[in-house]
Formats: sequence, C-alpha cells, structure tokens
Amino acid sequence: MKPNLILLGAPGSGKGTQANRLVSTFNYSHVSTGDLLRAEIAKESDLGKKVQEIMSSGNLVDDQTVLELLAANCDLSAASYIFDGFPRNLEQAKMLDNAIVKESQAMAVYFKMDTEVLVERIVNRRVAKGSGEIYNLVTRPPKVEGKCDVSGEDLTHRSDDREDVVRNRMKIFTDEIEPMLAYYREKGILKEVDASKSSDEVFASLESLINS
Ligand code: AMP
Repeated sequence: MKPNLILLGAPGSGKGTQANRLVSTFNYSHVSTGDLLRAEIAKESDLGKKVQEIMSSGNLVDDQTVLELLAANCDLSAASYIFDGFPRNLEQAKMLDNAIVKESQAMAVYFKMDTEVLVERIVNRRVAKGSGEIYNLVTRPPKVEGKCDVSGEDLTHRSDDREDVVRNRMKIFTDEIEPMLAYYREKGILKEVDASKSSDEVFASLESLINS
C-alpha cells in the first residue's frame, strides 16, 4: 500500500484541492476533519451544536473530540489515507501516530507558503458542498458565476473564510506549525512542496514524492 499522506499547511494553502486531485489519480481515501465537523453541524447533531461556535470563531475544536470523529471515519486496513486538516498541533500529531497510523507507513507533506498571500486566497474561496470542488474568484473562477462547473450546484462562502476569522486561524496555524514540523523531521518523514506555485506544479511535486 502507498504511504498515508499527512498534509500540513496553513488554511488556504491548497491541501483540500490537492487531496481531491490525488484521490482522482491515485487510489487514496481523503479525510478532512474540517469537512467531518461541518457535516456534524449540517446534521445538527449534539457534536455539531457543540462545535459550531468554536468553528465560526476560527478556534480549534478540542483534540479528543476531533480524534474520535476521525477514528470513526477511517479504516486504515482498507485503504491509504490522505489526512487533511489533522493534525493541527503537536498533541494531535502524537495522537494520530498512536491511535491511527501506528505501524503503517506515513509521509508528512508541508505546503509551504506566505500566510499574508493566503488571507487573500481564502477570502476569495468558494466551495461546492456536494461535489467538493473548490474555486477561487480570482485564480480559478467558475465558468458560470456562483455555480459549480461539475455539479451546477450553488457555491458557498464558508462563514469562517471571513477576513477577521481567517486572521485568527492564521495566527493559530503559525503558533502550532513549527513543533509539528520538528516532530515529523525527527521521524525522517517530512517533505515539503512550494504551495505558492500553480495547482498543476504542486500536483506534479506531490506525484513525484508519492512515486519516489
Ligand atoms: P478546515 O476546514 O481544515 O480549515 O477547518 C475548519 C475549522 O474546523 C477549523 O478552524 C477548526 O475550528 C475546526 N477543525 C478542523 N480540523 C480540526 C482539527 N484537527 N482540530 C481542531 N479543530 C479542527
């Protein structure tokens, strides 16, 4: 089996877009803790009600809650996974190893990029909930305004993609990323891509990392 991929990078650095592309090309399963949490909110489950306020402020949901949700939604014996949006801090990185990845092979890929540029990218981000397609009003606009090219559904602007919330999310990311990078570097499984490049170029870099 291919190594599980742990995607690390600031909000908006392209982890979700690349995960979608990798799923179409390689036989990966994609799990995004942000998507799982948003699904709980949409279902109006007890968990969804609990996390709604935390997410709309851009703060992190507690580690144990996210870990349980993740464990319930992936089966590593069945597939190789792309972890997108998890881990978010060193504690979660250790939890991921102990509770989920264990002895299976994993590769952590850091999507390196200037966070200031990302604020603009996120503010212009629009998503199609059904198809999972991700657009950008400046760099990847949909063919028809407000509609998904693939499914035709209405595009949405995530409430936590507002500039003030985005700045809080970036600050949390900046505070947490270095210890995680050190952790994966120490394990010898850390790779890096230049996330400021075009989507095709980033994808090509990921392909060569996976095939190496
Ligand atoms: P994302 O879609 O990955 O940008 O996540 C959106 C929001 O969901 C974050 O701002 C957090 O509030 C929450 N979230 C997603 N993943 C995690 C995680 N691994 N740990 C804690 N909170 C998370």
